[in-house]
Amino acid sequence: MAGLYLHIPFCHSACHYCDFHFSTNLRFRSEMIRAMCKEIELQSSKFRNLTFSTIYFGGGTPSILTFDELKALLASARLNLNIEPDIEQTLEANPEDISPEKCDQLFELGFNRISLGVQSFNDLMLKKLNRVHNGIQAYKAIESITSSGITNVSIDLIFGLPDQTLSNWNTELNSFLELDLPHLSAYSLTIEEGTHFDYLKKSGAISIAEDERYLAMFHHAQKVMNNNGIPQYEISNYSKEGYRSKHNQSYWKGTPYLGIGPSAHSYTENQRWWNVSSNTKYIQSIQRGDSFYDSETLNRVEQFNEFLLTRLRTIEGIQRKNLEEYSDIHADDFWKQVEVFENDGLLEVNDQNIRISSSGLYLSDYISTSLFAE
Ligand code: SF4
Repeated sequence: MAGLYLHIPFCHSACHYCDFHFSTNLRFRSEMIRAMCKEIELQSSKFRNLTFSTIYFGGGTPSILTFDELKALLASARLNLNIEPDIEQTLEANPEDISPEKCDQLFELGFNRISLGVQSFNDLMLKKLNRVHNGIQAYKAIESITSSGITNVSIDLIFGLPDQTLSNWNTELNSFLELDLPHLSAYSLTIEEGTHFDYLKKSGAISIAEDERYLAMFHHAQKVMNNNGIPQYEISNYSKEGYRSKHNQSYWKGTPYLGIGPSAHSYTENQRWWNVSSNTKYIQSIQRGDSFYDSETLNRVEQFNEFLLTRLRTIEGIQRKNLEEYSDIHADDFWKQVEVFENDGLLEVNDQNIRISSSGLYLSDYISTSLFAE
């Protein structure tokens, strides 16, 4: 089994918090689509023995692409890779690109899951983030998607925004609940180096939530969502039964994945590689037959650490029988540290699993790295 990720590196404008790879120059779109189709062909031999059960268009803004551009990428994937017939096929979309006609096209192309970048229903917050859409457009986009027959719909919301109160955040969560959608991704705002928010923070123009406020909002989301039958299954993700993102779960389970497009990452058989984060270099390298990615091979210790980092993000945590694969790596120190976290109420340990407690999930990266082998 494997997952296919296609990174569409174009956006209408730059959001103030974003450090993903994208360009607002859409001039080389057709060259980009051709290069990505070629990359699928070039990388297919590495996945010859695997079948793909998910396709995920992320970005950037995949909903910028036309019907024909999406169709070309899907055709290349189906031609070069072994793709199962009934797969989860997701498109990340932004509200300003969505119309009833666009949704009909997406449905026709086989998209059965849409992840919509709402981020907030509050126009003031959306302006602060420099998002293109407003709250009304977000509602209209959701209406268009659900009316088109695509029922597996997720939205993204961000918490910890400048001047956002717990009450504001509660309003956002209630807006989500009123829509009766099956999936929510709730991310805390992080200020990444080099973003506009980073500049505003350093110049004192915005104040960012202190840790206690982030934590209060995180726990509030857990409580509200659990009380409404949409439990958390990963640090940032909540789902009704049967609507978890299969594609994202495959990352957390260590399933191989092929990433296509500039800046995309891939992983299989302990090999990891990542494409150049430049649209021009990516297109030119593929056109000339030059190398367009760097790679590394994970040793046993790195594999074990990766195993901890990915599994502990989820509420299932680590299955102890899978831990046995690494019995040559983890030592007494590991179990001593597990005991410390268990006594602190951050880890729950039983005969089958080691998992982070609901109150510890926010610290998942810290807990995982504390358990790392050296
Ligand atoms: S739309 Fe998404 S990828 Fe594009 S700038 Fe905004 S957050 Fe970044």
